[in-house]
Amino acid sequence: MLDVGRHPNIELLAYSEVEKVDGQAGDFRVTVRRKARYVEEDKCTGCGACKEKCPTIVPDAFNEWLGERKAIYSWFAQGIPSTHTIDPAHCRQLNGKKCGVCKKGCKADAINFDQKERIVELNVAAIIVATGYDVFAPSRIPEYQYGKIANVVTAIEFERLLSASGPTGGHLDRPSDRAIEAEIEELEKKANRSQKVIAKFEEQHGEASGEFYARYEKGEYSGDEERGKWAEKYQEHLAIVEPLKALKKKAGGFTAAKRLAFIQCVGSRDFRFYPFCSGYCCMHSIKEAIIAHEHGSETTSAIFGMDIRAVGKGFEEYKVRGGNNSNIRYVRGRVAEITEGPNNNPVVIYEDTRERKVKDEEFDLVILATACAPNSGVKQLADLLDIEIDNFGFYKTSATQPLDTTRPGIFVCGCAHGPMDIPESVAQASSAAARAVQTVTASEQMRKAS
Ligand SMILES: Cc1cc2nc3c(=O)[nH]c(=O)nc-3n(C[C@H](O)[C@H](O)[C@H](O)COP(=O)(O)OP(=O)(O)OC[C@H]3O[C@@H](n4cnc5c(N)ncnc54)[C@H](O)[C@@H]3O)c2cc1C
Ligand code: SF4
Ligand code: SF4
Repeated sequence: MLDVGRHPNIELLAYSEVEKVDGQAGDFRVTVRRKARYVEEDKCTGCGACKEKCPTIVPDAFNEWLGERKAIYSWFAQGIPSTHTIDPAHCRQLNGKKCGVCKKGCKADAINFDQKERIVELNVAAIIVATGYDVFAPSRIPEYQYGKIANVVTAIEFERLLSASGPTGGHLDRPSDRAIEAEIEELEKKANRSQKVIAKFEEQHGEASGEFYARYEKGEYSGDEERGKWAEKYQEHLAIVEPLKALKKKAGGFTAAKRLAFIQCVGSRDFRFYPFCSGYCCMHSIKEAIIAHEHGSETTSAIFGMDIRAVGKGFEEYKVRGGNNSNIRYVRGRVAEITEGPNNNPVVIYEDTRERKVKDEEFDLVILATACAPNSGVKQLADLLDIEIDNFGFYKTSATQPLDTTRPGIFVCGCAHGPMDIPESVAQASSAAARAVQTVTASEQMRKAS
C-alpha cells in the first residue's frame, strides 16, 4: 500500500467515485467525482491533532460500529493517503452550528470548510475493476439470531475485537459485557448528578439522607413539603444507585471470552443464499482461533463445519497445528440454531454427524464465518461500465481470459471476480495489470501506425 502511495506512475484518487465512462479500449474517457474532504490532502500531515478536541463522537464503521470516532477522522491508521476527512453528516460546523475546533488545532492549516467536490476527467487506455466484496448479512439466517444475541458476532467484528488497534485494544471483551460496562458508565454519571442534588438537602438539614429517609418512611415529616421533595430526590437517587451496585457486582466477574465457537458456511454452500464456497473462511476461522489462543492460553475453540476446506500449500498443516497447539476442536456438523443461555452465553445446537446425535453446547462467544457476497454496488458499476454480471452476482469474465470482462479493455481482479484470499487477489491484480499493459501497448502501436 505504501508503495502505491509513493510510486511516481500511480496517481491515487481516494474518496472518489466513477461517474461516467465513454470511449473504447485504448481510449476511455472516465469522469470521476472527487468528494469534498474539507481537509486539503496536500497540506494534511496525518498527525491527528485536529481530532483530539473535536466534540462530536459517532460510531466507527471501520471498527464495525463496535467503537467510536470523531467527526474528523482517518478511515484507519495505516490508510493511504494518511489525510483526515470531515464527516459532513455529523460535523457541527458543516451543519450550521459554531465549532471549528479542528481548524484551531491543525498546525498545517489543512482544514477548509469551503472545499467543494470536483469533477476530474481522465483519459485511460484500460480499466481494472477491483471493487471487492461485501460481507453476507447473517440476519438473513434468523435461526442464528445475529443482532438479537449480543455475543453472536461476525468474523470481521471478531477481527476488530482481536486487533490491538480495535475498540477493545485487542482484549476479547464480550459485546454483552461491554454493553453493561457502558450502562455502568451512564448510571455513574447520573448517580453523580443525583448525589449532588441530595447533598444540598443533607447540608441544609445537617443529616445523612439514609437516616432522614428511615424516619420519613415512618411518617415523621407528614405535611412537610421541603422534606417531601428531599425524600422524592432520595428515592430517585436510590433508583439509580441500587441497579448500579448490582451491575457493578456483575461486572466484577467479567473475564475475556474463553470458550469460542466458529460457525462455518454462514450464507455459503447454502442454496437459499450463495451455493458457492467462499474459499477463505475456513482458513480465517483457524487463524482467528490461533490468535485468540495466543491472547489467552486457556482459550478453547470449536470450529463447526460440514468439512474444513484447507486448500493451498501448507494450509492443511496449519489446520492440524491449530488442533495440536491452539486448543482447536473441529466438529463436523452444520449448526441448526443458536439460542441464549444464562449469563448471555450463546448455546449452539447442532448435529454431530460423526456420532449422529443432536447436541447443544454453551460458549462465551459465537463467531459467524459469513459468505463472500457480491459488492452491493455491483449492478450500478456494471451498468456504468457496460459490463455483464455472472449468475452469482460477480463480474462476468471470459472462460479463456479469466480477467477479461465482457467489454474489451476492462479487466477485473480479486473478490470483484469471485471469492478468493489475499495472495490470490494480489496475484490476480498483477495479472490484470499485465493485461491492461497489453491494451495500452496495442493502442500505442495503433496510434503510431495511423
Ligand atoms: C473476516 C475475514 C478475515 C479474512 N482474513 C483473511 C486472511 O487472513 N488472509 C487472506 O488471505 N484473506 C483473508 N480474508 C479475505 C480477504 O478479505 C480478501 O481476499 C481480500 O480482501 C480481497 O481483496 P480485494 O481487493 O479483492 O477486495 P476488498 O478488500 O473488498 O477491497 C475492495 C475495495 O474497493 C473499494 N470499493 C468498492 N466499491 C467501490 C467503488 N464503486 N469505487 C471505489 N472503490 C470501491 C472498497 O471500499 C474496498 O476498499 C478475510 C476475509 C474476511 C471476511
Ligand atoms: S468543526 Fe467541530 S465538529 Fe466539525 S470536525 Fe471540526 S471539531 Fe469536529
Ligand atoms: S471456505 Fe469453509 S466456511 Fe467458507 S464457504 Fe468454504 S467450506 Fe464454508
